[in-house]
Amino acid sequence: MEQFIVSARKYRPSTFDTVVGQGHITTTLKNAIGQNHLAQAFLFCGPRGVGKTTCARILAKTINCQNLSPETEACNTCDSCRSFNGNASFNVHELDAASNNSVDDIRNLVDQVRYPPQAGRYKIYIIDEVHMLSNAAFNAFLKTLEEPPSYAIFILATTEKHKIIPTILSRCQIFDFNRIGISDISKHLARIARKEEIRAEEEALQLIAQKADGGLRDALSMFDLITTFSTDRSISYVNTIANLHILDYDYYFRITDALLAGRVGPSWVLFDEILKKGFDGHNFMVGLCEHFRNLLVCKDAATVQLLQVSGSVQQKYLQQAAGAPVAFLATAMHYANECDQGYKASKNAKLLVELALMKMAHIPAAVNLARLVQDNGDLLKKKDEHSPGVTGVPTPVVSVNPVPANGTPVNGTHANGTAVNGTHGTPNGANGNGAHGATYPVNGNGKPTNGVHESGANGYKATTPVAKATPSLARPTISLNPNVPAVSTQQQANAPAPTQQFIGEAPYTPEQLRTQWEAFSRTRNAPTEELILNRGYQADGHTLHLTLDNQIQMDSLNAMRMDLLEFLRRTLNNRHIQVKAELGAVEIRKSIYTNQEKFKYLSQKHPVLSDLRTQLGLEIE
Ligand SMILES: [Zn+2]
Repeated sequence: MEQFIVSARKYRPSTFDTVVGQGHITTTLKNAIGQNHLAQAFLFCGPRGVGKTTCARILAKTINCQNLSPETEACNTCDSCRSFNGNASFNVHELDAASNNSVDDIRNLVDQVRYPPQAGRYKIYIIDEVHMLSNAAFNAFLKTLEEPPSYAIFILATTEKHKIIPTILSRCQIFDFNRIGISDISKHLARIARKEEIRAEEEALQLIAQKADGGLRDALSMFDLITTFSTDRSISYVNTIANLHILDYDYYFRITDALLAGRVGPSWVLFDEILKKGFDGHNFMVGLCEHFRNLLVCKDAATVQLLQVSGSVQQKYLQQAAGAPVAFLATAMHYANECDQGYKASKNAKLLVELALMKMAHIPAAVNLARLVQDNGDLLKKKDEHSPGVTGVPTPVVSVNPVPANGTPVNGTHANGTAVNGTHGTPNGANGNGAHGATYPVNGNGKPTNGVHESGANGYKATTPVAKATPSLARPTISLNPNVPAVSTQQQANAPAPTQQFIGEAPYTPEQLRTQWEAFSRTRNAPTEELILNRGYQADGHTLHLTLDNQIQMDSLNAMRMDLLEFLRRTLNNRHIQVKAELGAVEIRKSIYTNQEKFKYLSQKHPVLSDLRTQLGLEIE
């Protein structure tokens, strides 16, 4: 039976070109060899399993090679190269400082350095885990490191650069090795799988690469483990998650779906299932946070490249991201992070996770509410703008808050240079301010364009100002999805229908509206509110008109308007419902306070009083 060699050894690179993911280092080393500018002491730093020892060995082999290739690579055929490849060279000495860290070990090494190489040009000393050397050993080494014989080259390797004393650091040329990128690792694994004739699913290799956290050796060990596990020399996604004890990302997709639908129950059930499979709640929460981050990354074309997953999974992410508002993701990440931080200190960790899931499930409703508050604020603001005394000519104003795909705020200029005509709706006589409903089309780039009003009740031309065009990350924004008739449908100019992501446009009958109105009025106890609600309304399309007696009632309505709208829109599942109010016949009761007023009032009733005052020459005090 053929002896099994682990992949990390079998596929250890033998030339600079085959080293994975450390191009900046191999290029520098090759140039140094080519130009004969080689330093005599190197320090290779970086995480484990990224190629430090491998690069040290390749360097040792290359500088001793008797016929270097024009690309400054070892030939692998000369005597020196063959002895290196067979681990039989006398010119390379490897010392593991983790187990040989005493002064005596270093003294032995320094003694050896005194003898020049028997064959070849250089003797190379590779000291691994050099940070483990004792201080005395370091000091014994300093002199040799500073003035080594011309044939000696030292390569120190460490995972913990900060533990190396400065006197050593200053004597070495330092190379920082990178963690190897996930795509580099998965491509390397795919190459090995092809050579070994192992059928490997791309998703599985991607998962191994992720789990390896930048270390190629770890990735190869996992690769071997899973190959051994399978009976038919294949690496499947299912085998991989079972072997590496990784939570199937499908769980994250399902939980996010439940949270987006505002359903706590299913998310708790899924979490329980995850715990039963032996996964840790803390890791789950960290993974969920990572999942939200990936969805957020999908929201912008510029950041999609940060998503390090295989093609088919990327499609799933893009799909779910399309249905997840930024406000939801940002808030959910905040809750996940909060849970992550509090996990260690919590006495009941499971409850902590469940609580976080519950909070997340309520985000969609909260986002809705915030949207309503904002609408209400806009409504009041626009009422002021539309009062004829202030503006003279009524101007339709639409409030849009778009974040275009390219991320630049809309500044009201035309992207395509042509104006799009907006058509006027009928003047809204009910509130007496002459505001017009108008259509605001969206051009192909998803940017709202200015509508030029060619004709209207007053026959004026006006360019619609685009108000509040500041993009904001945390606030819900208008969906640019053409299927959502958010900006392009006809809107009441002074009360734009909110673009709800969660409330639909379901039809309803007048009876249903009446029932819900009464249901709402049963929840209000304040006398003024009861008075307003009991008066009823006049329905005109989705707009409910109320006639109120005085300003007190108006204030009271404004205070509860948000609750009322939220209730009606939610129960009837229609986001277009609006409530408008106006004051009825205003009764003016002027009180009489001063003497002058009293006299004026009386003299109007009895004109003779005025004559009397003039004749007697009386003054009013
Ligand atoms: Zn050679």
